[in-house]
Amino acid sequence: MNEHDIVIIGAGITGLTCAFQLKRKNRDVLILECNDRVGGQIKTVNVGSFTFESGPNTGVVKYPEVAELFEQLSGRCEMETALESSKRRLIWKGSSFCPLPSGLMSALRTPLFSWYDKFRILGEPWRAKGTDPNESVGSLAQRRLGKSYVDYAVDPFLSGVYAGDPYKLPARLALPRLYALEQQYGSFIRGSMAKARIPKTEREKKATKKVFSAKGGFSKLVESLADAIGSEQIVTSATNISILPDDKNGWNICYTKGNEQIQLHANHVVTTCGAYSLPQLLPFVEPQLMNDLNNLYYAPVVQIGVGMQDCGENQWKAFGGLIPSCENKTLLGILFPSACFQHRAPEQGAVFSYFIGGVRHPEYVQKSDAELTEWVNRSLSEMLKYPQGKRAEEIMIFRHEHAIPQYELTTDARLQAIDRLKEQYPTLTIAGNLKDGIGMGDRIKQAFDVSSQFT
Ligand SMILES: Cc1cc2nc3c(=O)[nH]c(=O)nc-3n(C[C@H](O)[C@H](O)[C@H](O)COP(=O)(O)OP(=O)(O)OC[C@H]3O[C@@H](n4cnc5c(N)ncnc54)[C@H](O)[C@@H]3O)c2cc1C
Repeated sequence: MNEHDIVIIGAGITGLTCAFQLKRKNRDVLILECNDRVGGQIKTVNVGSFTFESGPNTGVVKYPEVAELFEQLSGRCEMETALESSKRRLIWKGSSFCPLPSGLMSALRTPLFSWYDKFRILGEPWRAKGTDPNESVGSLAQRRLGKSYVDYAVDPFLSGVYAGDPYKLPARLALPRLYALEQQYGSFIRGSMAKARIPKTEREKKATKKVFSAKGGFSKLVESLADAIGSEQIVTSATNISILPDDKNGWNICYTKGNEQIQLHANHVVTTCGAYSLPQLLPFVEPQLMNDLNNLYYAPVVQIGVGMQDCGENQWKAFGGLIPSCENKTLLGILFPSACFQHRAPEQGAVFSYFIGGVRHPEYVQKSDAELTEWVNRSLSEMLKYPQGKRAEEIMIFRHEHAIPQYELTTDARLQAIDRLKEQYPTLTIAGNLKDGIGMGDRIKQAFDVSSQFT
């Protein structure tokens, strides 16, 4: 039987980053991945001169670990930060996209928010602090900022990040930093100002609000990680993995590769797959505990990559446009990756990324390719203001049944179950997007944190 020190389940960004950090510490690590490729939700697809992302288009350099990962990969993969000209965020209202205000004057002039709420926001620093620890993001923001801010800022933002519903996601769990601003400082405005004044160490300064990808697309990042880890340390197409504790705090693992049944032994196991994979993976966990671990809804999302050869004068120089749910459109939003990053589309052309589905319309994932293509082509004139009849030259449809985990109230029980399992089995680590955040930055940070448990 093969012996390994640490076996990691899943070769998404979390598993790969974790394995890479462990390899840097000279630990013996093996990744088992059920898919026939690495990357998990990350996949870049090149078609002609277009570069499409199937999963994430961007991340935020919100932790030093993100910058450090790219520093460690220097020579293999370069970080690309979004162009300054793509900073604007757009929000749909009525029949067009409006820029989200970025300063005082634009905040006063914007048609997105009501005059009542614009004046009311002046009182935000003095508004009473909330007392319900389970208050939703929507309710918290409505109480402090006003309904029009929820409708035209918070709701589309939550759609963009979680494909979720602001009134279903508790602020404490879904947006802990926002929740902490009110709890610690009594106000979003006072809290943001106080936080900006806190001196930062050189390492903390590496964390920024910059939007990033990898040069050439996110697949370059995962491929570089896989390269650095070494192909002999990664087994793809490892299916039916089952993990059982032995009687010496170690693990017996068996899986199928092709027609072969393979057995191996590990001192430690780290899982980085979604919650839905855990019941089959860890059959020894008692049903109630597994139920708490696994009780997590993943909103399905369709991402449609749209390639335009020639956009004429109509170049969308912005990060993207989000669509508030109160506008009753079929789309969650449209990102403009070729406005953010270089060489993603022909010189005069563009790549757009359409998002459809989420918690409000999970059934849209089942729509036929023809129907989705028709929605996209119709929106080109209606929303992006191209001439009637203009059609996309390239359309790629990517369906994600388990796209974005919703950190609803079940999260408390899930986190407790993870802790209980760790007490029972100290050499088993449950990681992945069932905890610690759903964005690229969160995943990278978690992988660094997990690897730091191993000396
Ligand atoms: C459409 C979409 C758009 C997104 N956009 C953004 C964005 O713009 N910005 C951002 O920050 N984040 C975004 N995200 C989220 C981001 O992509 C994820 O947080 C991140 O990629 C998750 O990485 P992971 O390694 O934790 O999980 P995954 O990528 O899901 O990797 C888990 C791996 O485990 C494997 N696995 C599962 N079960 C088993 C098993 N039983 N045995 C072996 N292997 C198994 C899977 O095949 C997979 O490779 C987006 C996600 C989606 C789906």
